[in-house]
Amino acid sequence: MIKHDVVIVGSGLAGMRAALEVCKDLDVAVLSKVYPTRSHSGAAQGGIAASLGNSEPDSWEEHFYDTVKGGDFLNDQDAVEEFVKAAPSVIYELEHLGCVFSRTPNGKIAQRSFGGHSKPRACFSADRTGHAILHALHEQLLKSAKSVKIYSEWYMHSLILDGDRCNGIVVSDIRTGAVEVMQARAVIFATGGYGRVFNITSNAFAGTADGVMSAYRAGIPIEDAEFVQYHPSGLYRQGILFSEAARGEGGYLLNGKGERFMEKYAPSRMELAPRDIVARAEQSEMDAGRGVDGKDIIHLDLRHLGKARIMERLPQIRQLGIDFIGVDCITDPLPIQPTAHYSMGGIPVDKFGQVISDAEGTPVKGFFAAGECACVSVHGANRLGTNSLLDAVVFGERAGKVALEYAKTVGHAPVNESHEKTKVLELFEEIFQQDGGECYNDIRNEMKTIMTENCGVFRDADRLKVCIETIQNLRQRYKKGKVTDKGKVFNTEVYEIIELGNMLGMAEVIATAALARNESRGGHHRTDFPKRDDQNFLKHSLVYLTDDGMEIKYKPVVITKHQPAERTY
Ligand SMILES: Cc1cc2nc3c(=O)[nH]c(=O)nc-3n(C[C@H](O)[C@H](O)[C@H](O)COP(=O)(O)OP(=O)(O)OC[C@H]3O[C@@H](n4cnc5c(N)ncnc54)[C@H](O)[C@@H]3O)c2cc1C
Repeated sequence: MIKHDVVIVGSGLAGMRAALEVCKDLDVAVLSKVYPTRSHSGAAQGGIAASLGNSEPDSWEEHFYDTVKGGDFLNDQDAVEEFVKAAPSVIYELEHLGCVFSRTPNGKIAQRSFGGHSKPRACFSADRTGHAILHALHEQLLKSAKSVKIYSEWYMHSLILDGDRCNGIVVSDIRTGAVEVMQARAVIFATGGYGRVFNITSNAFAGTADGVMSAYRAGIPIEDAEFVQYHPSGLYRQGILFSEAARGEGGYLLNGKGERFMEKYAPSRMELAPRDIVARAEQSEMDAGRGVDGKDIIHLDLRHLGKARIMERLPQIRQLGIDFIGVDCITDPLPIQPTAHYSMGGIPVDKFGQVISDAEGTPVKGFFAAGECACVSVHGANRLGTNSLLDAVVFGERAGKVALEYAKTVGHAPVNESHEKTKVLELFEEIFQQDGGECYNDIRNEMKTIMTENCGVFRDADRLKVCIETIQNLRQRYKKGKVTDKGKVFNTEVYEIIELGNMLGMAEVIATAALARNESRGGHHRTDFPKRDDQNFLKHSLVYLTDDGMEIKYKPVVITKHQPAERTY
């Protein structure tokens, strides 16, 4: 059995930031199924929000209101207030840790505009912001190497819960296939989002819901799963992201007739309305036959920005266009469509990163979560661009601090090693023994397609019912697959099969929560219930796994300063 004081699963911004807190006083393990700096945080392009006011006067109060309005008033406002207040000091701290931010001509940290933010508030490192922050944090962790042990390419399978207390996790080393129990006084999940359940997505291959689903299987609910963000500018058919920074720098969106159609949908904010609104506008144009060349294509036009600005501020976006489709945005518009991008829902936590198991806020002792896998909820029904890197850093730090304080007060609880290990060994054995005729790749592709088509930008009850039935059927077929690689060493096939199991479970939860929410709010838009319904649905959903299947409960939204108002831009 491996033993650490605190174990953190995930080495994106949230996991690394948490580790930097814990290692001040206790020994900490950071586990990642991919090499740590390949975590999806490193792909973040556009920026990280803070009301520094370096371009225009700004305040945390404005950041607060923009975030709540952007989230369609489903955000828990007590958490949002602390989140936006913390932002400026977080930026300065990151800078002092070694993160290089782009500058204004007079040497201040530059800030650009982003959708739904009423002021230019995104601090950035050209269009490689996540990369810059992730590497700065990683370097700091390496400096603390004595008290931090990084398990690179290790896979977390399950949580070890004893009643209301978490005592560790079960993991395996992808290189050797060896299954191990990791005993810990506290566990922090920072396992990221689950965009990979969709066909068109901007998310990395690792975004497969492992963390969220292992909490769910242990009896912890998933909060607000129906709220998935579709980002307006994914590369046509591939989903790879062209950051909103492109529009923040002044890029236009054009339909097949060459019109800047956003003036019909959000006249005051145009291309910089929140993402849910822009994604729906694009989809509406395409559904009405006004896509480029009659296809599901919108043009992102940057030509008028000029070569110098594109090369200085958006070099990665230009390179992505050249590398993936041979289009140079200096001379030609980029073909885009909405892409599944961000999971507003996740493991329910309080504003200190403590995982809670019900509407009353009952804590699961020793279990913490932060970043995209957690639901605080600061983003409500729709996250504003650049608020997510901030979420990962602010709540990563908090979860680390609180887990450290907790771990100092308790010893390691006993763990039944062979029992916990056997459950995971049996899972492997089951997959190796299966000898059915089903192909896992087909199952994966069918899941992704039905999720994008029936549980995407626009939803309705009929399509969601078909979606749920299809997923349930796929879950049956999943039990009749066949693995071709039966070896232990670097058997990536078997891990992909386990991830597919997690994604099928997650897909069913998303669609079921979406079917139960008979209203439209933020990223969740029902064509059969096109209006927001505060009377019946100003509440968070909690989906539980029970012996009889899924059960949905709800919990109230925390409203402090801003009463729900009509959301226009
Ligand atoms: C292309 C793209 C661009 C973005 N741009 C921005 C932006 O400009 N601004 C912004 O605010 N937000 C942006 N976002 C969102 C933001 O990047 C993410 O929400 C945030 O980085 C998530 O950080 P995280 O630490 O929670 O998780 P991640 O960085 O996703 O890391 C998850 C970690 O969990 C590990 N993990 C998962 N499952 C397991 C398992 N079973 N076993 C072991 N390890 C596991 C992974 O290996 C990884 O280390 C962007 C997202 C994408 C996809």
